[in-house]
Amino acid sequence: MLKRLALLAATAAAVTVAVLFAQDKPKPDDKVELPQMKFNDVKEIAPGVFFRYSSISATDPKVPFGGSNNIWIVFKEYVVVIDANFPKEAEDVLAAIKKTTDKPVKYVFDTHHHGDHAWGNTVWAKAGAKVIGSTNCARLLKANGPAEWEKEQKKIDGRKDIKENELKTVDEAFDETLVLDDGTQRVEFIFYGHAHTPGDAVAYLPKHKLVCTGDACVNGAFNFMGHSNSASWIQVLTKVEKLDVKLVCPGHGEVAGKDLLAKQRRYFEDLRAEVKKGIDDKKEVKAITAGLTMNWYKEWTGKAAKDIPDNVKHVYDELTGKIDHSKLGWAPTPGAGNGFTQPVLRGE
Ligand SMILES: [Zn+2]
Repeated sequence: MLKRLALLAATAAAVTVAVLFAQDKPKPDDKVELPQMKFNDVKEIAPGVFFRYSSISATDPKVPFGGSNNIWIVFKEYVVVIDANFPKEAEDVLAAIKKTTDKPVKYVFDTHHHGDHAWGNTVWAKAGAKVIGSTNCARLLKANGPAEWEKEQKKIDGRKDIKENELKTVDEAFDETLVLDDGTQRVEFIFYGHAHTPGDAVAYLPKHKLVCTGDACVNGAFNFMGHSNSASWIQVLTKVEKLDVKLVCPGHGEVAGKDLLAKQRRYFEDLRAEVKKGIDDKKEVKAITAGLTMNWYKEWTGKAAKDIPDNVKHVYDELTGKIDHSKLGWAPTPGAGNGFTQPVLRGE
């Protein structure tokens, strides 16, 4: 009996040593602990930085679309929110923020002008916040917002929160960079050029080696390319990859490590290469789409690249010169009653 006890003690000691050793072992630099989250969960992913994981699925129609992911950063005196989301979801996020801090929201940052990232501005403004966005984001929201908002309001099955609210545009626009720093937290808003839209900007938190990308980088089959410039998008991602980053908070999908940026870039690189080859082989867009390989994409997103024909068509139209990138994301007739005679794009 005694002998058995001694053996047990010895085994327990060995296990303890093994556990301690495992904890002491330094992690490789690019390996980070990623939060496991369910939809609508909120987690503090870095000191004073909270992530809310919004519901979305590219394959399961039963999952309701909860707009964009949201991140908030608690400064000494105030809170900064990344992405406004839709008005209804903005209310939900505001309630979630109040559970984490009693400080007021001073700024909300629209990563771009799309409804699921910017239409909640009205809610944040009512809560006392100023809206920040890149110059192109501000222009696009001002030029396109009113007509798109009205269209949604008139839809019979349109969003209730749009019917009950009004459009709020950007208060403070920046051309390239805008920095908020109070000694405890630092956020750098950076515009790198035309990616998902002509107005995408990212929020970089150098202290936490974290970047919030909006839809310039998503984690899953959530890329809408209708307003994009795929060649420029690759360049933008390449620039974002140069940031000292360990965590990527995408506009949609789960928080990821830095490798997500390269995966996102590879999608556009491979798509462009395969479409280009198809065009060179005189294939129609349908045949190119059906013949797409890119098996790694399905492993990543759960959806095959060939099952997103709109993106293939967009790249096909780009490569065959059918797209004027300077007009993408702008109202169909820039200048027609919206105060803009010519879309002036920066960073092209
Ligand atoms: Zn978008």
